[in-house]
Amino acid sequence: MNPQPVAMITGAAGGIGGETAVRFAERGYDCVLLALPSEDLNPITKRIEDAGRQYIICTGDLADLEYAESAVEQCISAWGRIDVLVNNAAWREITTMRKIELASWEQTLRVCLTAPAFLSRWCAAHMEARGEGVIINVSSIQSQMAAGISPAYVAAKGALDSLTYELATLYGPAGIRVLSVNPGAIDTAMGQDIAVDQQATATKIRQASEDMIPLRRWAHPREIAHSIVMLAGEDASYLTGTSVTIDGGWKQQCSPYSVKQ
Ligand code: NAD
Repeated sequence: MNPQPVAMITGAAGGIGGETAVRFAERGYDCVLLALPSEDLNPITKRIEDAGRQYIICTGDLADLEYAESAVEQCISAWGRIDVLVNNAAWREITTMRKIELASWEQTLRVCLTAPAFLSRWCAAHMEARGEGVIINVSSIQSQMAAGISPAYVAAKGALDSLTYELATLYGPAGIRVLSVNPGAIDTAMGQDIAVDQQATATKIRQASEDMIPLRRWAHPREIAHSIVMLAGEDASYLTGTSVTIDGGWKQQCSPYSVKQ
C-alpha cells in the first residue's frame, strides 16, 4: 500500500480542481487526477512534482460511468488506498428552462450528480475497508440562490447537497466523512463563462456581483482549494453531513443598503 495518503480529484485541469490537487500535494498527498482527454494537465503535474509528490492521470468523460469506475480501479491497483475523493468537475449550459434541450439537461445531471454519486460509492467501498476516508462534493451557492440561467446545473447542485447529507448518514458509522462546499463567485473559466460572447455584459455582471459581496471581490480558486484541503484534514475531524459556504459573505447579503454606493 502507498505510504502516503491519496486524494482523487475530478476536474483536475480546471481552476478549483487544479489548485486543490496542488494543495493536497503540498500537504503530502499523492494525487489521482481526472480530466477530459483534451485538457492540459502539465501546469498542475509540474507543481505536484515540485511538491515532491506522485500523480496518476486518468482521462475521460465523467458522463461515462465505466470510465469513472476504471479510474477508481486504477488508483487502487497502483496505490491500494484512497483517502479523499473530491467531486469537483462540473458542466453547465447558460440557458433557461424555456430553451434547454433534454440532452443538455441529462449531460449536466450525469456530470454534476450521477458521476459524484457513483464515484462516492466506489471510493467509499475502499474507504470502508480501512475505516476512514473523506468525500467532498463541490456544490455551489447556486444550489440555494437562483439566477434563472442554468436550470439543470442548479437542480444538480441542490441534489448534490442532499446527496452529501444522505452519504454522510450512510457512511458515518464506517468512519467516512462527507461534506459539500458551496463556492460563490470564483475566478475560473466557469466563473467567467456568463455571457462570454457579450463582454460588456460579462463585465457588468462581475462588477454588480462584486458590489454585493461583502469582501468586494471574486475568490481566487486557490482560496476554495485551501478550504477543501482543510475540510479533508484532521482539523475538521467532527465535521460531516453539512455544506460549507465559501462566498465572501455573498449568500447572506440581501439588503440593498449594504450594496457598495
Ligand atoms: P472550471 O471550468 O475551471 O473547471 C471545471 C472542470 O470540470 C473542467 O476542468 C472541465 O473539464 C471538467 N469537466 C466538465 N465536464 C466534464 C466531463 N464531462 N467529464 C470530465 N470532466 C469534466 O471551473 P471551476 O470554477 O474550477 O469549477 C469547479 C467546481 O466549482 C465545479 O463543481 C463548479 O460547479 C464549482 N463552482 C464554481 C464556481 C465559479 O464561480 N467558478 C462557483 C460555484 C461553484
